[in-house]
Amino acid sequence: MRSYIGLRYIIAIALPLLLASTGVISLTTDLLNQVSGNADRVENQRNRQATVRLLKSAESDLVRLVRQNAQWDDASRHVYPNIDTAWVRSTWGSINSLGHSFDRAAVFERGNPVALAATGVAGGSGLDLSAYLGVSYDAIAARLANGATAAPVSSFVNTPDGPAVVAVSPVPPPQANAVAVPVSPSAGLQAGGGSNAPQLRYLAFLRLLNTEVLARGAANNVVQDLHAVDATLARDGGLIVNNSAGEAVFGVAWTDGNLGAVATSQARQKAGLVVGFLVLVMAGIGFVCWRLVQGIADKEEKSRHQALHDALTHMPNRAALVEALEHLRSAGNLPHAIAYADLDGFKDVNDSYGHQVGDRLLRAVGAGVLRLAGEARMASRIGGDEFVVLFEGADARNAAEGFAALLLQFLGKPFDIDGRIAYVGASIGIASSDAADADELEILRRADIAMYKAKTEGKNRRCVYDSSFDAERAESQAIIAELRSIIRNRTIEVAFQPVISTRDMRVSGVEALARWPQSSPRKVTPDRFIAVAESAGLIDELGELMLDRACAAARNWPDLRLAVNISAVQLNNPRFVERALAIIESHGIAPRRMEFEITETSLIRDAERAKQVFKTLQRHGIKVALDDFGTGFSSIGYLRTFHFDRIKIDRSIISKVLSNPAELAIVQGTLLVARGLSADVTAEGVERSEEVSVLKLAGCTELQGYHFHKPLLAEEVTGLLTLRRAREDQRKLA
Ligand code: C2E
Ligand code: CA
Ligand code: CA
Repeated sequence: MRSYIGLRYIIAIALPLLLASTGVISLTTDLLNQVSGNADRVENQRNRQATVRLLKSAESDLVRLVRQNAQWDDASRHVYPNIDTAWVRSTWGSINSLGHSFDRAAVFERGNPVALAATGVAGGSGLDLSAYLGVSYDAIAARLANGATAAPVSSFVNTPDGPAVVAVSPVPPPQANAVAVPVSPSAGLQAGGGSNAPQLRYLAFLRLLNTEVLARGAANNVVQDLHAVDATLARDGGLIVNNSAGEAVFGVAWTDGNLGAVATSQARQKAGLVVGFLVLVMAGIGFVCWRLVQGIADKEEKSRHQALHDALTHMPNRAALVEALEHLRSAGNLPHAIAYADLDGFKDVNDSYGHQVGDRLLRAVGAGVLRLAGEARMASRIGGDEFVVLFEGADARNAAEGFAALLLQFLGKPFDIDGRIAYVGASIGIASSDAADADELEILRRADIAMYKAKTEGKNRRCVYDSSFDAERAESQAIIAELRSIIRNRTIEVAFQPVISTRDMRVSGVEALARWPQSSPRKVTPDRFIAVAESAGLIDELGELMLDRACAAARNWPDLRLAVNISAVQLNNPRFVERALAIIESHGIAPRRMEFEITETSLIRDAERAKQVFKTLQRHGIKVALDDFGTGFSSIGYLRTFHFDRIKIDRSIISKVLSNPAELAIVQGTLLVARGLSADVTAEGVERSEEVSVLKLAGCTELQGYHFHKPLLAEEVTGLLTLRRAREDQRKLA
């Protein structure tokens, strides 16, 4: 359950958050790298452009300089017709004094690479320019031969002294002499020629692009560490410099600043803060969600626990039992058995001691059930006082029966709850899956029916399900249904059995006995329907109806005492006395004519309450009789507690007084005690005339039985009384 919710949390919340976080981080890193790369590229571009500008301006400066010098009248005068090397050296050799921005100067003639004069270089005059300028010389010479006379030519070159820029300008001859201009480059490159015109001469300035020049340029242009390198080394990020013929002659390299790094480190700091904040927010969301999810999981678990457990005993409840049974079915209907225990007398404990004591008793019983259930699959409380234990496995049925025996033994001793002594028993039904036809809910139903059977058979016992129980149960249900309509329509019938006084052997009273309506298709004995009414909660209404009907009939017999049977269950009704008095009064019957009979077996559990009810009844003049004496377990102390007005000795004892002296001794003993308690004694079920004399002799005050009268209809009682009066009148007349 919990792990399922955990999984859902991971899938729905944690995973997306994690993905989003890593997404944000990798996106930001990407972005930063991109910013850094862009910044680096921008910086490199800028440095390259600056370097190009620097080289170009060096070149154009040199071009301007060489043109000015070459087209100077003094230059023409000293270069033509014979070169004045001393003048050349003094004019273009002392660079520093002139402040000129070139390092070498040379004068040479068209078509001849050997300089007529040169400064700043070891060779001086006789310097071979084609050797000094390398491959670039030919390109320069070709362009000079091609171009107009006045146009200077420049190129970058690689010299033995290092990379340099060279600019060459023709030196115009003095005006007097014409200069021989070649018709073709090839012709021009040939030395000499037959013309009188002097050969055109050129002034070449060369500036070494040494680190100082580049460094100065670097300082001005903010390009760091600008320096010349081999052309091949400049390929990566540097600048390859070509000569005028487009051949690579050298390279320039520099160090790009850390603009990218600076930019990214600044961005990274901010991004780090933002990302950190975002991740923190997501972690916060994740945490909050986790707590929420945990809360939900806890709640779900709690509500599931609540749904499957009984709040009072914390045992699994009916829903949990049904779930376990369904699980059994889905597992292929493993052999199992159910022990279904319903407490006997729990309601009495609840009614007399209150719910708190009742609850504690249930908890105590629940604890006992759990302990005795041992290895059972489940011990549950499925209703107020109903406990069901489910056993599994081949030995399930034996285990269930064993448990039932132990539980009955356990409940055999009274519970002491804060000094209050509570007796409860249990009616236990057992059913097992031995009969292959039954599914698991059917087994539960069968165990319930077996429990019901145990109840009707006298409670506090166990009963194993038998298919005949179903018919009985169905009949009980039918009786309950009919009983409801009997109560609603007030169609219960009442028989009256006369009671004879031993003093004059005359009818002194009648006992009202309930009769199932003659009109019903069913024949149901009072023992049966009274028990059904008790278990179905209909006894209060049936009892009141009986009292009402009996009183209505008794109005016609003002001289007779009216005995009515009361179920012990009725005593638990707190309004019992009040309602009974109202009914009696409504018929105008004096309470002292009334007698309520209560069987002894049902009294023992609720002695205290019964005593109070009896006292109240007696205070109002209603007598209280102990019915069926001798069938239960009453003691003399018990008789003393209740102060009965009458004791009715059960037929089972009376029928044996003639044959069994021990039974007669019981009757005599009872009479002795009764006399001591000033109670009357009635002998029930007197069927033979011999019994009459014995019971009379023993001291019974009243006799009742078929020997005198069977239960009669009300009209029959009236007829009986009329006949008696007529006889008495006759006797008076005689
Ligand atoms: P009970 O109160 O002991 O009633 C006496 C029972 O013994 C009656 O049976 C009666 O017909 C029967 N009886 C009387 N004399 C003789 C006799 O000489 N020989 C034999 N064999 N039986 C005799 P009934 O009417 O079947 O009633 C059975 C029980 O049903 C009653 O026993 C009583 O406990 C209960 N009952 C009857 N009516 C009511 C009622 O209105 N309310 C309550 N709570 N219980 C009732
Ligand atoms: Ca009775
Ligand atoms: Ca009786």
